Amino acid sequence: MYDWQREGQKGMNNHSWKGEKRKTQREISMKYRHSHREQCRERLKKYRKLNIEKVKIWRKTSLSNMLHKWVGIVPLKTFCEMCGKEIFYNGGNKATSIHFDHKSRKAPIKISPSTWLMSHQRNTKNELIWKSCDFGMLCERCNRHLPTDNREQFVKNAIKYVFGKNLTNV
Ligand SMILES: [Zn+2]
Repeated sequence: MYDWQREGQKGMNNHSWKGEKRKTQREISMKYRHSHREQCRERLKKYRKLNIEKVKIWRKTSLSNMLHKWVGIVPLKTFCEMCGKEIFYNGGNKATSIHFDHKSRKAPIKISPSTWLMSHQRNTKNELIWKSCDFGMLCERCNRHLPTDNREQFVKNAIKYVFGKNLTNV
């Protein structure tokens, strides 16, 4: 049997809406959620409003749990491949976190790599998908300035701009 008391201690999953029998997110079936979509949305909105601090903590913990599942495939700490700045896999501070860089549009993961990590379980299949993308690891600044489309031409132009000539062996 499911341990409701223990679930309650976790906070977020124990919804006690007024006038309602206690229900947890898991208890509400997909079918129920489907046919009561509006009500569910309203309840969640109300809950979030009333428990904003709790929700903030929950979001932070669940985010870091999801992210940390991927440690090993993704390093906790590394250096920007372009400027050498120390960057961290923490999902928090944009300025110091690892920005996974799409080297081309051909990578199987089209969405934001960090979002993908957060929304996918770590298993052999997903590890292979991740590895096949060969994402670069950059700091925020370098990632912002390096385009994915027409990247080679951009860099060639940048070289020409900086050195005042084409580098023939590039
Ligand atoms: Zn950098």
